[in-house]
Amino acid sequence: MNEPALDEAAPRISANAGRERDRLAAAARHAATNLEVRGVVCVACTFVDNSGITRMKGVPVGRLDAAVVWGVGASPVFDAFGVDDGIIAGRVAGGPVGDLRLHPDLERLTALAAQPGWAWAPVDRRDQSGVPHPQDARELVRVEAARLAERGLGVAMAFEIEWAVAPAGSDGFAPAARGPAYGMARVAELGDYLRDVVTALTEEGLVVEQIHPEYAAGQFEVSVAAQDPLGAADTCVLVKETVRGVSGRHGLRASFAPKVLADGVGNGGHVHLSLWGEDGDGPSRPAPSGRAGAAVTGGVPAVPPPGLSALGGAPGTAANGASGLGGYGPGTGAGGAAPGAGLTGGGRVNLMGGGDGPAGLTATGEAFAAGIFARLPALMALGAPSVASYLRLVPSQWASAYACWGLENREAALRMIPGPPAAAGRAANLEIKCFDLAANPYLVVAGLLAAGHAGLVDQARLPPPVDVDPASLDPAERARRGIARLPTDLGAAVAAFAADDVLRRACGPALHDTVATVRRAEIDRFAGADPAAIVAATRWRY
Ligand code: GLU
Ligand code: MG
Repeated sequence: MNEPALDEAAPRISANAGRERDRLAAAARHAATNLEVRGVVCVACTFVDNSGITRMKGVPVGRLDAAVVWGVGASPVFDAFGVDDGIIAGRVAGGPVGDLRLHPDLERLTALAAQPGWAWAPVDRRDQSGVPHPQDARELVRVEAARLAERGLGVAMAFEIEWAVAPAGSDGFAPAARGPAYGMARVAELGDYLRDVVTALTEEGLVVEQIHPEYAAGQFEVSVAAQDPLGAADTCVLVKETVRGVSGRHGLRASFAPKVLADGVGNGGHVHLSLWGEDGDGPSRPAPSGRAGAAVTGGVPAVPPPGLSALGGAPGTAANGASGLGGYGPGTGAGGAAPGAGLTGGGRVNLMGGGDGPAGLTATGEAFAAGIFARLPALMALGAPSVASYLRLVPSQWASAYACWGLENREAALRMIPGPPAAAGRAANLEIKCFDLAANPYLVVAGLLAAGHAGLVDQARLPPPVDVDPASLDPAERARRGIARLPTDLGAAVAAFAADDVLRRACGPALHDTVATVRRAEIDRFAGADPAAIVAATRWRY
C-alpha cells in the first residue's frame, strides 16, 4: 500500500531533519498505513490535565508522521483548566500566551475498538525545541521510574477501574442495572455490554483479568494486568475511554466520578503496585519465567509490541478477592516495558513478598511502602484531587478513609496483598485504596514512585498493621494505635501537598504550584455547595 502523502503545507520532514526524525517519521507512516487498512481516519492525541480530565487534539491519520515529529500545537493553558473548564490564573500557568507541541507516542498507538475510525495515542508535551514541558506529568513518570532503575529497581502497577452506568440522555443518575451487588442478575441485565467491554479492551491489546458488578447499583469494575509505571498510567486512560465508548454504543453513559449520587458507595481508582529488584534481603528465588512472543492484538505493528513481561508466570492475586491485579503474568499489556526493564542479570524478585518483614515484605519493599504511607495525606491531593473525592472517602465503604495499613484489610488505605503461598511472593502487591478516578493517573504514578523512593532513602518502616475496620474501634483505641483519618476535605490534602518537599521536588516548582492552585480554585468553586450540588456538577466530568 502506498505511503500516505503529506500535503504541501506539511513540514518537510526528511529534507533537513536529523536521522532520528527520519526514523520516527518512517515509523509513523508505517503505523499510519496499518491503521488505514483497519479503517482508521483520525488519531486522538490525549493528555490528562491537572484536574483529571482527559483532553485531546485529533489528527487525520495521514498527518500522524508530522504530529509525531513536530508535535501538534496546544496552549499551555490546559495546565490551569478546572473541572468545570474554568481557567485558573496561577503564578506559572493560566495565561493565553505560548504554545506547546503534543507529540503522540507511537509505542502506545492503538486502534480504538469502541470508536471505529479512531485510533488513540497519549502525548508527550514539549516546547518548540523539543524539551519536555516542565508541567508534563507523563515525563515525570519516566523521570521517577528512571531514578528507581538507577537503584536497580522496577515497579509493576495497575489501576483498578470502577464506574457506574446510567441510560444515556439524562444529566441525572438512574442506575442502568439494578441487580444486587456483585450479583449475576446484572449480567442478565447488561451481559452484552460487559462482554463488549472485555472484547474491546482485549482487541486493544490489554490483558483483562477480571470484570464484575460492584457494590452500588449500576456500578462495575474491570481489572487489567500490571505493567511498568508509564504503561499503567496510559492504560488507565485507555480503559476509561474504551468503557466510555462501549457505553455510548449501548445507549449508556459511564461515570468514573468519585460519586454519582450523594448517598451510597462511590467509584474508586485503587492502584496496585509491586517493587522488583535484585534479591537484596529476601530469600533467594528465581525470577518468574518470561513469556516472549505474545502478540499485542490491538496495537499497531509498526512498533514492536512492548510490554512482553519478563515477570510472567505468577498467578494473579485478589484485587477484590479474585482478580490478578497484583498478578504479574502474563503481563502482555500493550505499551509497557516489562516492570523492572533496564535491570540487568537474573535474580529479579518481587520485593513485596517472600521477605522477613511484616506481611512478608522484604526490607526494601517495606521501606518503599512506608515512604508512601508517610506521605498519604499529601498524595491525596494527587490521588483524590476533587472536592467530590472527599464525599467518597468515608469510613466503612471500602474507600479506606483511615491512614493505616493492613494485611488484606479493605478499610486500610494501604492493603497488603501477599498472594497465594504457592506463588512464593511473586504475586504480592500493595493496593493504595484511597484514590479515585478523578485523578490524573500520571501524577498519581509519579507521586507514588517519588514517595516510595523517599522511603528507600529514609529506610522507613511501617507502623504496626491494623486488622480491623478502624471505624469499629472507639476513638481512644484508634488514638492509642496511632490511626488517624486521612484528610476529610480537599483543603487539608492540598495543605499537606503544598508542604511536602518530596512531592515538590518530584513535580518541580511550576507543576507543584499549579496543582495546588487548581485544587484551591476547585475548593473556592464549591464553597458552600451541598453534596448533591457537588455531585451533580462533577458526575459526568471524569
Ligand atoms: N467502591 C469502593 C471505593 O470507593 C471500592 C470497593 C472495592 O474495594 O473494590 O473505593
Ligand atoms: Mg472494586
